[in-house]
Amino acid sequence: MKALEEKILREGTVLPGNVLKVGSFLNQQMDSDFIMEIGKEVARLFGNEGVTRVLTVEASGIALAVAAGIALHVPSVFAKKHKSANMPKEVYTASVYSYTHKETYEIAVAKEYLGSEDRVLIVDDFLANGNAVQGLMRIIEEAGATLVGCAIAIEKGFQGAGDKLRAEGIRVESLAIIDSMTDESVSFRVQG
Ligand code: 5GP
Repeated sequence: MKALEEKILREGTVLPGNVLKVGSFLNQQMDSDFIMEIGKEVARLFGNEGVTRVLTVEASGIALAVAAGIALHVPSVFAKKHKSANMPKEVYTASVYSYTHKETYEIAVAKEYLGSEDRVLIVDDFLANGNAVQGLMRIIEEAGATLVGCAIAIEKGFQGAGDKLRAEGIRVESLAIIDSMTDESVSFRVQG
Protein backbone atom coordinates (compact mmCIF):
# COMPACT_ATOMS: atom_id res chain seq x y z
CA MET A 1 0.00 0.00 0.00
CA LYS A 2 1.85 2.99 -1.37
CA ALA A 3 0.08 5.49 0.92
CA LEU A 4 1.28 3.57 4.00
CA GLU A 5 4.88 3.51 2.77
CA GLU A 6 4.71 7.26 2.12
CA LYS A 7 3.28 7.92 5.58
CA ILE A 8 6.04 5.82 7.21
CA LEU A 9 8.67 7.80 5.31
CA ARG A 10 7.07 11.14 6.24
CA GLU A 11 6.03 10.53 9.84
CA GLY A 12 7.84 7.43 11.12
CA THR A 13 10.95 7.56 13.29
CA VAL A 14 13.36 4.72 13.99
CA LEU A 15 14.07 4.19 17.69
CA PRO A 16 16.93 2.15 19.18
CA GLY A 17 16.30 -1.61 19.11
CA ASN A 18 14.79 -1.64 15.62
CA VAL A 19 11.52 -0.13 16.80
CA LEU A 20 9.63 2.03 14.33
CA LYS A 21 7.55 4.75 15.94
CA VAL A 22 4.36 5.54 14.06
CA GLY A 23 2.56 7.20 16.95
CA SER A 24 1.29 10.09 14.84
CA PHE A 25 -1.04 7.99 12.65
CA LEU A 26 -1.22 4.32 13.69
CA ASN A 27 -0.65 4.07 17.45
CA GLN A 28 -1.16 6.70 20.16
CA GLN A 29 -2.75 9.07 17.68
CA MET A 30 -4.76 7.47 14.88
CA ASP A 31 -5.42 9.06 11.52
CA SER A 32 -9.11 8.11 11.27
CA ASP A 33 -9.50 8.28 7.51
CA PHE A 34 -6.24 6.47 6.97
CA ILE A 35 -7.14 3.69 9.43
CA MET A 36 -10.40 3.20 7.50
CA GLU A 37 -8.42 3.03 4.23
CA ILE A 38 -6.33 0.24 5.76
CA GLY A 39 -9.53 -1.54 6.80
CA LYS A 40 -10.83 -1.32 3.24
CA GLU A 41 -7.58 -2.66 1.83
CA VAL A 42 -7.73 -5.62 4.23
CA ALA A 43 -11.32 -6.26 3.12
CA ARG A 44 -10.24 -6.11 -0.53
CA LEU A 45 -7.58 -8.73 0.15
CA PHE A 46 -9.65 -11.08 2.32
CA GLY A 47 -13.22 -10.27 1.24
CA ASN A 48 -13.71 -13.61 -0.53
CA GLU A 49 -12.51 -15.80 2.31
CA GLY A 50 -15.72 -16.08 4.34
CA VAL A 51 -14.19 -14.36 7.37
CA THR A 52 -16.54 -14.41 10.39
CA ARG A 53 -14.28 -12.79 13.03
CA VAL A 54 -11.30 -10.45 13.03
CA LEU A 55 -8.89 -11.15 15.90
CA THR A 56 -6.15 -8.95 17.35
CA VAL A 57 -4.31 -8.21 20.63
CA GLU A 58 -4.89 -5.11 22.74
CA ALA A 59 -4.06 -2.29 22.50
CA SER A 60 -2.32 -1.29 19.30
CA GLY A 61 -4.10 -3.76 17.01
CA ILE A 62 -7.61 -2.74 18.00
CA ALA A 63 -8.11 0.26 15.71
CA LEU A 64 -7.04 -1.67 12.63
CA ALA A 65 -9.08 -4.71 13.62
CA VAL A 66 -12.17 -2.57 14.06
CA ALA A 67 -11.59 -0.88 10.68
CA ALA A 68 -11.16 -4.29 9.01
CA GLY A 69 -14.21 -5.65 10.82
CA ILE A 70 -16.32 -2.68 9.65
CA ALA A 71 -15.16 -3.14 6.05
CA LEU A 72 -15.76 -6.91 6.18
CA HIS A 73 -19.05 -6.50 8.12
CA VAL A 74 -17.97 -8.93 10.84
CA PRO A 75 -17.24 -8.49 14.56
CA SER A 76 -13.72 -7.79 15.72
CA VAL A 77 -12.42 -9.40 18.91
CA PHE A 78 -9.30 -8.49 20.84
CA ALA A 79 -7.26 -10.71 23.15
CA LYS A 80 -6.72 -9.14 26.56
CA LYS A 81 -3.25 -9.03 28.06
CA HIS A 82 -2.57 -10.15 31.62
CA LYS A 83 0.66 -10.62 33.51
CA SER A 84 -0.63 -13.53 35.61
CA ALA A 85 -1.11 -17.03 34.25
CA ASN A 86 -4.18 -17.63 36.45
CA MET A 87 -7.09 -17.55 34.09
CA PRO A 88 -10.67 -18.65 34.58
CA LYS A 89 -12.03 -21.56 32.58
CA GLU A 90 -14.20 -19.46 30.25
CA VAL A 91 -11.23 -18.13 28.28
CA TYR A 92 -8.72 -19.39 25.73
CA THR A 93 -5.17 -18.37 26.68
CA ALA A 94 -1.65 -18.30 25.27
CA SER A 95 1.71 -16.89 26.41
CA VAL A 96 3.31 -14.18 24.33
CA TYR A 97 6.75 -12.60 24.59
CA SER A 98 6.55 -8.89 23.88
CA TYR A 99 9.13 -7.52 21.49
CA THR A 100 8.63 -3.92 22.52
CA HIS A 101 8.28 -4.45 26.29
CA LYS A 102 10.71 -7.39 26.69
CA GLU A 103 8.41 -9.40 28.94
CA THR A 104 6.10 -12.41 28.72
CA TYR A 105 2.38 -11.97 29.28
CA GLU A 106 -0.75 -14.06 28.86
CA ILE A 107 -3.37 -13.23 26.29
CA ALA A 108 -6.95 -14.33 26.76
CA VAL A 109 -10.12 -14.41 24.66
CA ALA A 110 -13.51 -15.25 26.16
CA LYS A 111 -14.81 -18.53 24.74
CA GLU A 112 -18.16 -16.96 23.98
CA TYR A 113 -16.56 -14.73 21.32
CA LEU A 114 -14.73 -17.44 19.34
CA GLY A 115 -15.94 -20.90 18.35
CA SER A 116 -15.18 -23.87 16.12
CA GLU A 117 -17.47 -22.52 13.37
CA ASP A 118 -15.42 -19.32 13.02
CA ARG A 119 -13.16 -18.40 10.11
CA VAL A 120 -10.70 -15.99 11.67
CA LEU A 121 -8.55 -13.25 10.20
CA ILE A 122 -5.69 -12.07 12.44
CA VAL A 123 -5.02 -8.33 12.16
CA ASP A 124 -2.17 -6.43 13.80
CA ASP A 125 -0.26 -3.19 13.42
CA PHE A 126 3.23 -4.80 13.31
CA LEU A 127 4.74 -8.18 12.57
CA ALA A 128 8.23 -8.34 14.06
CA ASN A 129 9.32 -11.71 15.51
CA GLY A 130 5.85 -13.19 15.16
CA ASN A 131 5.17 -13.82 18.85
CA ALA A 132 1.85 -11.97 18.96
CA VAL A 133 0.60 -13.71 15.80
CA GLN A 134 1.69 -17.10 17.11
CA GLY A 135 -0.14 -16.51 20.40
CA LEU A 136 -3.28 -15.62 18.47
CA MET A 137 -2.84 -18.72 16.29
CA ARG A 138 -2.70 -20.89 19.43
CA ILE A 139 -5.95 -19.33 20.62
CA ILE A 140 -7.62 -20.00 17.25
CA GLU A 141 -6.39 -23.60 17.43
CA GLU A 142 -7.67 -23.99 20.99
CA ALA A 143 -11.07 -22.76 19.86
CA GLY A 144 -11.07 -25.27 16.98
CA ALA A 145 -11.63 -22.34 14.61
CA THR A 146 -10.11 -21.91 11.14
CA LEU A 147 -7.30 -19.44 10.50
CA VAL A 148 -7.93 -17.62 7.22
CA GLY A 149 -4.71 -15.61 7.31
CA CYS A 150 -2.97 -12.59 8.76
CA ALA A 151 -3.37 -8.97 7.68
CA ILE A 152 -0.57 -6.80 9.00
CA ALA A 153 -0.07 -3.07 8.51
CA ILE A 154 3.73 -3.02 8.85
CA GLU A 155 5.88 -6.13 8.61
CA LYS A 156 9.52 -5.80 9.59
CA GLY A 157 10.67 -8.23 6.94
CA PHE A 158 14.24 -8.28 8.20
CA GLN A 159 13.05 -10.03 11.37
CA GLY A 160 11.89 -13.01 9.30
CA ALA A 161 8.61 -14.02 10.95
CA GLY A 162 6.39 -13.17 7.97
CA ASP A 163 8.36 -15.30 5.53
CA LYS A 164 8.50 -18.16 8.04
CA LEU A 165 4.71 -18.12 8.36
CA ARG A 166 4.34 -17.96 4.56
CA ALA A 167 6.66 -20.94 4.24
CA GLU A 168 4.30 -22.81 6.58
CA GLY A 169 1.48 -22.12 4.13
CA ILE A 170 -0.20 -19.31 6.07
CA ARG A 171 -1.48 -16.41 4.02
CA VAL A 172 0.24 -13.29 5.38
CA GLU A 173 -0.61 -10.00 3.69
CA SER A 174 1.39 -7.01 4.88
CA LEU A 175 0.52 -3.58 3.56
CA ALA A 176 4.13 -2.45 3.90
CA ILE A 177 7.17 -4.68 4.34
CA ILE A 178 10.32 -3.02 5.63
CA ASP A 179 13.45 -4.76 4.40
CA SER A 180 15.86 -2.53 6.28
CA MET A 181 15.79 0.58 8.42
CA THR A 182 18.30 2.94 9.99
CA ASP A 183 18.05 6.40 11.60
CA GLU A 184 18.32 7.89 8.15
CA SER A 185 16.42 5.60 5.85
CA VAL A 186 13.70 2.99 5.58
CA SER A 187 13.53 0.70 2.56
CA PHE A 188 10.56 -1.37 1.51
CA ARG A 189 10.20 -4.71 -0.23
CA VAL A 190 8.67 -4.42 -3.67
CA GLN A 191 5.48 -6.49 -3.61
CA GLY A 192 3.77 -7.89 -6.67
P1 5GP B 1 6.06 -9.64 17.39
O1 5GP B 1 5.19 -10.36 18.38
O2 5GP B 1 5.74 -9.98 15.96
O3 5GP B 1 7.51 -9.76 17.71
O4 5GP B 1 5.74 -8.09 17.58
C1 5GP B 1 4.48 -7.61 17.24
C2 5GP B 1 3.92 -6.69 18.29
O5 5GP B 1 4.93 -5.88 18.89
C3 5GP B 1 2.92 -5.79 17.64
O6 5GP B 1 1.66 -6.10 18.17
C4 5GP B 1 3.36 -4.37 17.98
O7 5GP B 1 2.46 -3.81 18.89
C5 5GP B 1 4.72 -4.51 18.64
N1 5GP B 1 5.82 -4.07 17.76
C6 5GP B 1 6.79 -4.85 17.23
N2 5GP B 1 7.68 -4.12 16.54
C7 5GP B 1 7.26 -2.84 16.63
C8 5GP B 1 7.77 -1.61 16.10
O8 5GP B 1 8.81 -1.52 15.42
N3 5GP B 1 7.06 -0.47 16.38
C9 5GP B 1 5.92 -0.51 17.14
N4 5GP B 1 5.29 0.65 17.33
N5 5GP B 1 5.40 -1.66 17.64
C10 5GP B 1 6.08 -2.81 17.39
